[in-house]
Amino acid sequence: NNMIVEIIPCLQDNYSYLIIDKNNNACVIDPSEAKPVIDLVERKKINLKYILNTHHHYDHIGGNEELKKKYSSIVVGYKDDAERIPGINVLVENNQVWKSDNFEAKIIHIPGHTTGHISFHFFNEKLIFTGDTLFSLGCGKIFEGTYQEMFESLNKIKSLPADTKIYCGHEYTLQNSKFCIKHDPENTNLQNKMLEIAKKLEKAQPTIPSTLKDEIECNIFLRAKNVESFSKLRDLKDNF
Ligand code: ZN
Ligand code: FE
Repeated sequence: NNMIVEIIPCLQDNYSYLIIDKNNNACVIDPSEAKPVIDLVERKKINLKYILNTHHHYDHIGGNEELKKKYSSIVVGYKDDAERIPGINVLVENNQVWKSDNFEAKIIHIPGHTTGHISFHFFNEKLIFTGDTLFSLGCGKIFEGTYQEMFESLNKIKSLPADTKIYCGHEYTLQNSKFCIKHDPENTNLQNKMLEIAKKLEKAQPTIPSTLKDEIECNIFLRAKNVESFSKLRDLKDNF
């Protein structure tokens, strides 16, 4: 089962992703805009069969309609967000395994950033698309949910195998790392991770994917012991 993931930089700092199977069928995850996705699909002669959305924000669904029209792709999103996800065809729910062609992903409902935020866990390939909930060395802002919900959502992700690859919605890693090191200056794993990040950014490479192991060792939001300390950090980060 050899899938490959292509990273597509979009807008200012978004990442959309293609997950491509051996027959050149693909899903796009969170197409912020259509153009860069179309460019890659055409260049690699890919069949863009599915559009998977983690949540309804414009920088995650902006390309839905155009891609759906051009490639007759099927749009997959959370059932309670059917009104907010353009072109939605397949409504999925928490803990459901979505399976089509060679693609198989468990849907994990992870509210907090938005009430309808989900992640797609491709458990066979050990990778997860976390949208704006878990970032490398950070987590999303709480727009619609509660601190408790966001804390529990991060804990759900934390319980997956440590070698799971993390593909998130934005390149925020450098800025996030500065906040982590400020509050966790003695963390040698974090210090080493920051050196790796600097090397990648020097070469203009994405810092994504991260791994769950790295995040558990280095991400201060995953290291928070309880919802009180998590909430305090989240507030501090909003003004960082
Ligand atoms: Zn968002
Ligand atoms: Fe976003």
